[in-house]
Amino acid sequence: MSAPADTPPVSPRADVALMEGYHSPQLDVAVRLNTNESPVAPPAAFVTALQAEVAKVEWHRYPDRRAWELRTRIGELHGVGPEQVFAANGSNEVLQTVCLTYGGAGRTAAVFEPTYALHSHISRLTGTTVVTGDRTDDFALDAAEVDRVLAEARPDITFLCSPNNPTGLVEEPELVRHVVATAPGLVVVDEAYGQFAPWSALELLGPDVPLVVTRTFSKTWSMAAARLGYLVGPAWLVAELEKVVLPYHLDALKQAAGRLALDYRPEMEARVASLVEERGRLVAALTDLDVDVWPSGANFVLFRPRQRAGNDVWQALVDRSVLIRNCASWPGLEGCLRVTLGTPAEDDRFLEALQEALS
Ligand code: PMP
Repeated sequence: MSAPADTPPVSPRADVALMEGYHSPQLDVAVRLNTNESPVAPPAAFVTALQAEVAKVEWHRYPDRRAWELRTRIGELHGVGPEQVFAANGSNEVLQTVCLTYGGAGRTAAVFEPTYALHSHISRLTGTTVVTGDRTDDFALDAAEVDRVLAEARPDITFLCSPNNPTGLVEEPELVRHVVATAPGLVVVDEAYGQFAPWSALELLGPDVPLVVTRTFSKTWSMAAARLGYLVGPAWLVAELEKVVLPYHLDALKQAAGRLALDYRPEMEARVASLVEERGRLVAALTDLDVDVWPSGANFVLFRPRQRAGNDVWQALVDRSVLIRNCASWPGLEGCLRVTLGTPAEDDRFLEALQEALS
């Protein structure tokens, strides 16, 4: 085999060539609190039930293309029919399908930074122009700024994220209602962390309302490995997404895993309740340290060391085998770090390491 050429023989799209990939560094550490996963596995009974399901899969056949039973079960969670549920491989693929369907060349998506980086990344990958509005110094949405962006850019898609990643802030219901009422195009409310928050934009959905709410099995359902997410929205919109997504995109095992997971809703709610309690403990402990802490409605907390550079504190934590998310160089988040809630023991290790790193 010949050595790879210095210049590859084919070029990607010019805009892709200029892009950075999306990175979330993984390091081999004892305590991993960097990707907002659940710190505990789903119930053992779920794993046993899924094992039994493997034996029932007809491996030589394509899966149910519409994933109807899974969508029916998800719909039951939210009091809607399967025709109002679109499921895909993680909520990222849900967002990608939304962008392919309602964005694309010549169309525009609006985001309010700082927010989840994949909203603008997926928009750009699908050829959608991104316009950016700012948040206030407290990372809140600002009504005047929202109005400015909506009026000037007339976006085809407006992304909101509640609770917002990486700030943890839950958007005000009145403001979300205002965006839904005034946005000229589709509004996407990303609720990957929705179950941790006191209210949900699901209550704003309606047959004539161009609004979708996205959710994921990766966080509260303890199923990040499965890659399953969904949105709830009007049936006419779901029908358009179904045209765009690849045929048979959800494999049979994943459909079964999603269906079975929903049998363990009380366990999921108990996990969420204990994480919310743990969040109170972690925030209280951080408040006693030399850091600024932002209120969180999610399973992570954003904070900023006051005396030491965020980068240095992040590295000092890694040196103590604790990995959190380094947002210190992200625009608008200078010096900030984000820690995912872990088990109480993991959080104690983080707090001890942080105390050392700050001193
Ligand atoms: N939305 C937000 C706000 C997230 O933080 C994440 C995961 N980091 C996702 C969507 C994607 O989740 P998944 O693709 O695992 O469903």
